[in-house]
Amino acid sequence: NSDLILYVNLELVNRKSNRRYVVQEMLGQGTFGQVAKCWDAETNNYVAVKVIKNQPAFYQQAIMEVSLLSLLNEKFDPDDQHHIVRMLDFFLYHNHLCIAFEMLGNNLYELLKRNNLRGLQMKYVRTFSRQILDALIVMKDAGIIHCDLKPENILIAPTVKTAAGVKVIDLGSACMEGKTIYSYIQSRYYRSPEVLLGYPYTTAIDMWSFGCIVAELFIGLPLFPGASEYDVLSRMIEILGGQPPDDLLREAKNTGQFFKHVGSIYPGSETRNGAGSAYRILSEDEIEARESKRPKVGRWYFPRGRLDRLIFTYPWKNFTEENLPDAEKADCLALVDFLRGLVEFDPNK
Ligand code: ATP
Ligand code: MG
Ligand code: MG
Repeated sequence: NSDLILYVNLELVNRKSNRRYVVQEMLGQGTFGQVAKCWDAETNNYVAVKVIKNQPAFYQQAIMEVSLLSLLNEKFDPDDQHHIVRMLDFFLYHNHLCIAFEMLGNNLYELLKRNNLRGLQMKYVRTFSRQILDALIVMKDAGIIHCDLKPENILIAPTVKTAAGVKVIDLGSACMEGKTIYSYIQSRYYRSPEVLLGYPYTTAIDMWSFGCIVAELFIGLPLFPGASEYDVLSRMIEILGGQPPDDLLREAKNTGQFFKHVGSIYPGSETRNGAGSAYRILSEDEIEARESKRPKVGRWYFPRGRLDRLIFTYPWKNFTEENLPDAEKADCLALVDFLRGLVEFDPNK
């Protein structure tokens, strides 16, 4: 890992920025900088150039993005078969680290918005999920944790041979498994229980985010939205009908922010395997009493209920579990089953 970073830094020193890329329009803004659609005068192609903010922390993390992405592209996916964005070039320009990527289309959040947040047809959910999973398998083999998987970081790839395709982008928060540095990672709705609770994390956190994305692609809205981490955690417990295993709660650093230790058995809070837990999640009143300064946000206008109900009755089909056509029901059951395996509280599973 450090060899790779050294290599990238040395490479940079030898690169002279020239007038190769001509900015056409802005494509997106992120935490790390801006992304511009550019004309590549050398290859006569459009490319997407991410211009990193010129502050040391952003520079360092972008060097990591370049290192990990070149490892993935060159060593683990040389033939561009695994739905990971291709990096074409990187250079310094006016003290900004710039990364040129192949030009891709809209991100999946934009796609969902175009669809009035009513979710995609199952066949697209299936295709996109398979492709994202393909990318995640490669990342796991490479020992890389993406750390920021969300619809905004998955882009439509018009060039993929199949009719509809996606690619995973934005390795800007990624790290190597076993060399995790940051504890505040992932975007809140897609943040895994172990990151929320402050427990050592692995590539399993990407699998959690992936589950959230698959569900969102189908229902059109985030599965675990919330204005705070507490809200997100209580949504998880409501929708999954259980809570993180006691082993995790006992060892995680932040458990006390969300849970109260209530002794060996608390019959009201069943864990996923049905056993009583030594912890119960704090009530909303208890949380508010603790954080009186917490801004009051209106109730989330989002679907509520258990996971299977959410899937059966969305997206806006006016179905109930009873009148759902057989073919749809089989698809929905399969999806619920798949999701159960992904949004699993126990990272070891
Ligand atoms: P974040 O806030 O998620 O960390 P970021 O600053 O790391 O964002 P990116 O996610 O890499 O930046 O890019 C920001 C946005 O720019 C993307 O969500 C996407 O809409 C657009 N974008 C990025 N790369 C490309 C590309 N190769 N082709 C087309 N659009 C792109
Ligand atoms: Mg991003
Ligand atoms: Mg990023």
